[in-house]
Amino acid sequence: MKRVFSAVLMVLIIGSMSLASGSMTEEDGIAFMREEEKLAHDVYSVLHEIWGLNVFGNIARSEQTHTEAVLSLIGDFGMVDPVGENEIGVFTNSTLQELYDELIESGSKSLLDAVKVGLLIEEIDIKDLEELLEGDIDSRTARVYENLLRGSENHLRSFLRQYERLAGSYTPEVLDVERFNEIASGR
Ligand code: MN
Ligand code: MN
Repeated sequence: MKRVFSAVLMVLIIGSMSLASGSMTEEDGIAFMREEEKLAHDVYSVLHEIWGLNVFGNIARSEQTHTEAVLSLIGDFGMVDPVGENEIGVFTNSTLQELYDELIESGSKSLLDAVKVGLLIEEIDIKDLEELLEGDIDSRTARVYENLLRGSENHLRSFLRQYERLAGSYTPEVLDVERFNEIASGR
């Protein structure tokens, strides 16, 4: 099977996931998700500009509500917001900055590459949220993450429909096939 993403990108993806491992404190996880949801918003906004596909614009709006939900946790916990006044494409977390740059480069090549970027972001987001939900976290944090997870599952299904229209069946890059199929079939 031909690899969809470059070796560099796969290293960044693994790096991103290890950041969301059990060794993170609850606050570290919140700061990370604040920017991970911003990354999804920013990438989809740019890909919508480039390709004009409605699904990118619609999901970007959803990601804006997700990053704002995490911002409310940052307020509750009295944390410093890593986003602050940062514009589209600017990140405090250097791994997310590199990931953003790689995803924009990849998603600019073709509409199919852009849709693959959408699938990849949602797979990473689901993996990270599920890992963070396994940690010892406040019930408010868990509620926000569960809401984000439901959103990501919906987004994954939307991008999958686009992918199948353009290129046929999709093989997951990050999630295991069983979990991916469970989400894809809407269970
Ligand atoms: Mn999201
Ligand atoms: Mn999403």
